[in-house]
Amino acid sequence: MQRVAPVDDPLGQAGPWQVSGVSVANVQRGCRLGGRGCRRGGVNVPASAPRAAGNVRTRAQGDQAGAWDQLCTDTITRVTIIPDTKDWTWVLQRPCPECGFDTQAFPREQIPRMLLDNAGLWRELLAGPGDPRRRPQPDVWSPLEYACHVRDSCRIYSGRLALMLTQDNPAYPNWDQDATAVSDRYGEQDPEAVSDELVDAAHRLADGFAAVTGDQWQRTGNRSDGAHFTVESFGRYFIHDPVHHLYDVTGRSST
Ligand SMILES: [Zn+2]
Repeated sequence: MQRVAPVDDPLGQAGPWQVSGVSVANVQRGCRLGGRGCRRGGVNVPASAPRAAGNVRTRAQGDQAGAWDQLCTDTITRVTIIPDTKDWTWVLQRPCPECGFDTQAFPREQIPRMLLDNAGLWRELLAGPGDPRRRPQPDVWSPLEYACHVRDSCRIYSGRLALMLTQDNPAYPNWDQDATAVSDRYGEQDPEAVSDELVDAAHRLADGFAAVTGDQWQRTGNRSDGAHFTVESFGRYFIHDPVHHLYDVTGRSST
């Protein structure tokens, strides 16, 4: 089995490790939104996690499926995800090759409706069937974790939108979305509550965009990495995020 080096191990304690033959360090899978987006791929393994293949029971070695599932569950809840530094502002220039979404293919006034429609799909997704807490792979977020991220993105972007509309060319406060996912224990939140919160946050942001008129679309703001947005490009950039994450979870593109 392949062994890989840990990607972020400040304590120098986490060795290469695997779960049932699946390498979980330095894997680039699942969500690939960067910058604002997220790479739910590279993972850091705490010292308490299995260290090496020899310490990990595998299905091939005859484990009961339930025991394997429990091992994965126990381990997954302890996995942390490294911050992502990828810049996804290119989605403002060309359609996303993964989810198929084209940020320039609709009137800007459509953003609120698109956001609410997307939120409705997340509600359906979290209601089942299937366990929204379950990760499809150790290094890929569960539907619940993605939904938490979408909820929090809506909240953050509501704040940024308000900032752009009330201040001249503001800098957005930093938001480490990957650190938030860990510190807020996305994977342990209640799916029903998250569903309600996501829809509420989407409504608030949709209301914010719906209230934008005339020259307000050209007001500006800046991300800490230097990315510069107008309210319009900010809205077009944002709406790709929940659409792409729905694709991450369902595999269904928007085209
Ligand atoms: Zn996409």
